[in-house]
Amino acid sequence: AAVIYWTRRDFRLSDNPALSAACASGASVIPVFLCDEGVEGLAAAPRWRLGLGAEAFAVRLAGAGSRLICRRGPALQVLRALIAETGAVAVHWNRLYDPESRRRDEAVKAALKAEGIKAVSHAGHAVHEPWTVETGTGGFYKVYTPFWKAVRGRDVEAPLPVPRLAVPEIWPGSEVIADWGLGHAMNRGADVVLAHCKIGEAAAQDRLEAFVTDRIGDYSDARDRLDVDGTSSLSENLTYGEISARTCWHAGMRALVAGKPGAETFLKELIWRDFAYHLVHHTPHITSRNWREEWEGFAWNTDADHPHVQAWMRGRTGLPVVDAAMREMYVTGRMHNRARMLVASYLTKHLLTHWKIGMDWFAECLVDWDPASNAMGWQWSAGSGPDATPYFRVFNPETQAEKFDPLGRYRRAFVAEISGKPPKTALSYFRAIPRSWDMGPGDPYPGAPVVSAADGRKRALEAYENRGF
Ligand code: FAD
Repeated sequence: AAVIYWTRRDFRLSDNPALSAACASGASVIPVFLCDEGVEGLAAAPRWRLGLGAEAFAVRLAGAGSRLICRRGPALQVLRALIAETGAVAVHWNRLYDPESRRRDEAVKAALKAEGIKAVSHAGHAVHEPWTVETGTGGFYKVYTPFWKAVRGRDVEAPLPVPRLAVPEIWPGSEVIADWGLGHAMNRGADVVLAHCKIGEAAAQDRLEAFVTDRIGDYSDARDRLDVDGTSSLSENLTYGEISARTCWHAGMRALVAGKPGAETFLKELIWRDFAYHLVHHTPHITSRNWREEWEGFAWNTDADHPHVQAWMRGRTGLPVVDAAMREMYVTGRMHNRARMLVASYLTKHLLTHWKIGMDWFAECLVDWDPASNAMGWQWSAGSGPDATPYFRVFNPETQAEKFDPLGRYRRAFVAEISGKPPKTALSYFRAIPRSWDMGPGDPYPGAPVVSAADGRKRALEAYENRGF
């Protein structure tokens, strides 16, 4: 008999519960990747990066004597066709928690079960399944710190080893991922971003190893510095499951036991990711509506073509730290966490623009895009979300820049117009952006910000006052 292992965002052989369960059944295992409704709906950078992740996983599977069967079409329809072709008796996958994935997976599970196929989902994407963390009264957490306290002492199962993959005698036919054009919308900037990506399971393991060996000790302080490479950069790999969150948790725990001071902070950050899944599970509207009801009706600007919003997207606000951050995202596909908080605050508070415009732009540009973490980050920054900073606390981008980029290195690394002798990173921005933006490194930098730190703060506070909070 054969069983199908349906891979979605779990491109790894080690610590992969769905794959291990498929292998443990004793049947031959057919790994399948689908270009389904979930993939079709992705924005540019995540869609492109997902395709690269799947291709790398295909190579990894081939190295283990197996294959990745790739098919295009609605998930249920394609799985049914594969079951008919191969006589598969079961389908295994690792669970995702965002509303779209859940809707698809629940429909697939119900339909397959009704047809007598074993459809089994597994816990493989988070450290803790979202519904396993409960408050004393059986509810869910709306604030991070008690969530952290509830899980920090819990035992976390050891990562699973790489299983032995039994292969079918005859493989079903496969399409070629490259033919799907997943990178279509990235045609301009892909080569620039690619230089900053680390793709695949081995690369992810190397990243974790390097971080735990060299940087975790200083992580608590260094993680906030814009001009220091002080974090793990693992979000790119965690997003595609090229490494498991559980593996990262155990590496952090070993560092903690070894007395490395930054390790606990790293564990806490990993749990922020779990908290995002906890929230999206219990309050799925976090990805689409103000999490706090009272923000519905707030007079955000909702025009993405507004010149201020366009200046924000293009890194031309005239505030170097905001512009550096927006360009960092365009060049590397990622952005420093503090910079994400800063630019999100600037858009939603100084520019009084709806967080959804920012969230969608991040989804377009980030290779580590995660529906739950992105939505949580945006609503947290806007003040409309869970555990948010008080809405009236408005980050000052200038003082933040002085504190976290004291020598201006980060700003000069990404904004050519202020760099004198621009480094490669700053120049590569102009290779990545669309021609229609009509920007060049020789252009004069805006003489004044579109909205200054002081004016924006005043305007935001006035708007909040009129709202009657
Ligand atoms: P490290 O500092 O090394 O942390 C280790 C891991 O912990 C990260 O890889 C990540 O998986 C997790 N983590 C750390 N901070 C957070 C956080 N605040 N929320 C959730 N998980 C966290 N993260 C994404 O993975 N995808 C997104 O789309 C995303 N969008 C964001 C949008 C906004 C507005 C904000 C403020 C934050 C967003 N984050 C997002 C969270 C955070 O900025 C990134 O996870 C982090 O910058 C990744 O860098 P790193 O891997 O070096 O993190």
